[in-house]
Amino acid sequence: MQSIFGLRAPSYRSEDGLAGLGVRRDGVDSINMKACYPARPQGCAAYEPKPEHCGAPASASNDSAAPSHADPWVSHALSYLNGGGGSGKTTRANEAFRGRKPLVFTPTHRLAKEMRSRGVDAQTYHSFFRWSGQKDWTPDRIRRKHIPPVVIWDEVCTVPRAALEIFLDWLVQRGVQVVCCGDQGQPRPIAGASPHAWLKERCDYYEEITVDHRSRCEKLSALKRAIRLQSNWVQCKEMRKALPRCRGWANFVGVWHPRDLLLVTRKAPRDRAQKLLFEHHKKSFPDEPVPLLYRPRDTRLQNILVPIPGPDMVNEELVLNDVVVVSVETAQEVLNGEWGKDWDLGYAMTVHSSQGLTIEEPQKVWIVDDYIQWSNLAYLAVSRVQYLHQLHRCCPPPGTDDHAPRLAYDENKACKNIARKLQAYKRADAAKDLKCNLRLRMKDIEALKKKQRNRCDSCNIELLWCYEPKDTRQFSIVRIGNAQGHARGNVRLLCLECSRKRVAAAFTHCEATKDVPSENISVDQLQNLFDSI
Ligand SMILES: [Zn+2]
Repeated sequence: MQSIFGLRAPSYRSEDGLAGLGVRRDGVDSINMKACYPARPQGCAAYEPKPEHCGAPASASNDSAAPSHADPWVSHALSYLNGGGGSGKTTRANEAFRGRKPLVFTPTHRLAKEMRSRGVDAQTYHSFFRWSGQKDWTPDRIRRKHIPPVVIWDEVCTVPRAALEIFLDWLVQRGVQVVCCGDQGQPRPIAGASPHAWLKERCDYYEEITVDHRSRCEKLSALKRAIRLQSNWVQCKEMRKALPRCRGWANFVGVWHPRDLLLVTRKAPRDRAQKLLFEHHKKSFPDEPVPLLYRPRDTRLQNILVPIPGPDMVNEELVLNDVVVVSVETAQEVLNGEWGKDWDLGYAMTVHSSQGLTIEEPQKVWIVDDYIQWSNLAYLAVSRVQYLHQLHRCCPPPGTDDHAPRLAYDENKACKNIARKLQAYKRADAAKDLKCNLRLRMKDIEALKKKQRNRCDSCNIELLWCYEPKDTRQFSIVRIGNAQGHARGNVRLLCLECSRKRVAAAFTHCEATKDVPSENISVDQLQNLFDSI
């Protein structure tokens, strides 16, 4: 059966009349399904076509507000559509349920804002569940809330698995039909484990979507296919094969235009690049506008009217990472600190802030290729554009901190550093009353270091074990699940920069609940955290 979106959807109307009975992909019938969801009174009956409508052409439902029965998943309590950026998952889910006023959950305010601008009811899942991302969540938090009949959960692979388990159970037990849309190829959640494997097992209907609506050229589609779900090493190799030329910094600046976007993995090259590009902008493009990124120090300042820097004094409703454009003079005033601390230049972005963007022709994306630091950056870059010729590679700017000299490795010093950090984590766990049955030992850290090939598990840079106190390349031992302490099996190694991002991300979630995070962070520490993302 052909769906209205031109996708070949697997048929669930079998010969023996099982139409719409909630048959799972593995052939388990609806009786088992009910056993999974005791609180759902009618199983999936509410969404079944009447027998006389079975087999009606899909086009007949185009003008109707009812869900299209061409898509088999509209009859399941919990579906999971998995596919790359531009595969139309969320659009398809929204279209199928448009008559039932679905609510879309997003990971960021920016995505929610973009959805609302397209007429879709959307909010972040943090604000719906009033969950800060720090403490355990209990249902009393949303006692008197309107519960929508259908929830479309966008970018579900960015939600930590432990949180998703709790929220999905809560929704499904209330009879809410949930469609999860995600891409397992995306960077995993900053805090916590990826939910993909668990969700695939847990859902009643699973589909992998390979169609690609965003890509407009065959070369780009081929590259996307070649790097999806591949290791950083393969991504890097394929990307360099497809884009053989890597311009040196000076050469790159010569062809750069202010509307282009730079993708970098780390803060140091990003800040350095933006500084140099602004100098070039002032000289070579005095009349072109400068992009500014809204990055409020207090992340509660979102979805409110914000005064835009400039002589006109206009206000605009903004969320984190929104881009506005201003004149060169105004941008200089912003950099001089005359317009507060909530603005940053918007020429370059790091991986997590660019998620969900589409870069249209003739805008270009420059990938800053610093050879080792490519955690999923290649995949993310190709998912943002429409044509391969929009993508280019260039070298990192000269004088970046990341190339600062490093201390020589000294076994004794490294052991001391590990022991010191283990002690600090032990104290922090005890202060938070966290259980920790399998206490970490020195040899566990050495085994992890070997397993991760001495790379940060998030950004892939080489970790330092002997370092100057402020060097953000130093190792850091980070918990995977928040319910347990620093125990064997519950930790991974990150660089200090990624570890700070993780804490800052958890703190960002507090804006939904206005909770103070359980980890008492001083104003100075907080300032440092936001400086580091
Ligand atoms: Zn890192």
